[in-house]
Amino acid sequence: MATTLEHVRQDLPHLIGPLPGPRAQAVIERDSAHVSPSYTRCYPLVVDSGQGAMVEDVDGNRFLDFSAGIATVSTGHCHPRVVEAIQQQAARLIHMSGTDFYYEGMVGLAEKLSEIAPGDAERRVSFGNSGAEAMEGAIKLARWATGRPIIIAFLGSFHGRTMGALSLTASKATQRAGFGAPTPGVVHAPYPNCYRCPFGQKPENCGVECVKFIENTLLKTIAPASDTAAIAVEPVQGEGGYIVPPPKFFEELERVAKQNDILLIFDEVQSGMGRTGKMWAAEHFGVPPDIFAVAKGIASGMPLGATVARADLMTWPPGAHASTFGGNPVACAAALVTIALLQEELVDNAARMGRRIMERIQDWPSRFGNVGDVRGLGLMIGIELVKDQRTKEKAHDLRERVLDLAFRRGLLLLGAGDNTLRMCPPLVVSRDQCDFAVETLEECITAAAKQG
Ligand code: PLP
Repeated sequence: MATTLEHVRQDLPHLIGPLPGPRAQAVIERDSAHVSPSYTRCYPLVVDSGQGAMVEDVDGNRFLDFSAGIATVSTGHCHPRVVEAIQQQAARLIHMSGTDFYYEGMVGLAEKLSEIAPGDAERRVSFGNSGAEAMEGAIKLARWATGRPIIIAFLGSFHGRTMGALSLTASKATQRAGFGAPTPGVVHAPYPNCYRCPFGQKPENCGVECVKFIENTLLKTIAPASDTAAIAVEPVQGEGGYIVPPPKFFEELERVAKQNDILLIFDEVQSGMGRTGKMWAAEHFGVPPDIFAVAKGIASGMPLGATVARADLMTWPPGAHASTFGGNPVACAAALVTIALLQEELVDNAARMGRRIMERIQDWPSRFGNVGDVRGLGLMIGIELVKDQRTKEKAHDLRERVLDLAFRRGLLLLGAGDNTLRMCPPLVVSRDQCDFAVETLEECITAAAKQG
């Protein structure tokens, strides 16, 4: 029987001219005249098509995509089974609105998400179109179900840019500057970043001060437990720099939440859908959330978000929360095939390929003076660049140069946080492609350091 990986092109990058090529240049000029300048393009890539982990630009240059459309095309670009499901569904029914009518795809996907959700609790699902919307649903549900207004979130976190989600987001000032006061009732705690411990501890002495701060400071001052609905956390902090907390953090967070009847919301928008080598990052820590948000990898690139909650919490009445497009039939069809592919082999491939990359890069801090830290789970890998390993001063410009050099060698990467390189390829990525990415990055880090 043919397996998923056999469908995927194993090609490596092939560049046929200087970048950007003439067609790409023309599109970029039109874009700059008409498209919002708020988008953060870090290099001039104009994509035309994609297959597996490869994309081709409008001038015929082929790139290895270690960005996956911001960790989204989990099954690779245009996986044949996903394309077939989309085409078949689009030919039958594109939209009917699950808020007012029923269709089977939405029910089937809610059943599937309940079945694969972390923990044993019975679940219910509310659908939207994006990660931010999935978090909006989580915030609203936590407030509605508890009758309490306050949400505790974490510094460095990213939960989206709509006003509710933005009030939790504490990633970059530019995401908030000029937009007025976000939704009130949100307070922030330091995130457990062991490379830059906010409490000056070493991992071996860590007493999970980040949770103590919630318990002994926030709950005792500005966020009384009686007024606090939920603690919202990314199980692995994504946009903030691909930061993996120590397991004890989640044990303690669960204890504090339980003792105070506070709900745990996990934002699995980036860390979910197999990316970390398990279906949910929560499974690495053994703590099931009361509510969790899913988007990005759920439908291989079709716009879909889901707020998944304990069934006994999601009892809000008709009209309380809904979205015209949320759970659109075509997106649901793509999601059902995506989950099947993840379960058949891609979650395992993410774990295997993640281990392969990590084995090859874990000694980078001893080999490259500008690599401060290397961390990750599965195919959610961060490489933090510093000017000096002792002072840990962040090397933002160096990171930008590495991204640009990698692009010019045919490797697409994104940054995360101020100074971290992120590797988040599609989960179909092959051994050769992982090796190519590692070797290319080694060259680029060396070359960029010389330029500086
Ligand atoms: N939550 C997390 C953890 C994310 O990484 C993102 C996007 O990067 C979002 C929420 C927002 O998702 P979207 O851009 O689909 O609104």
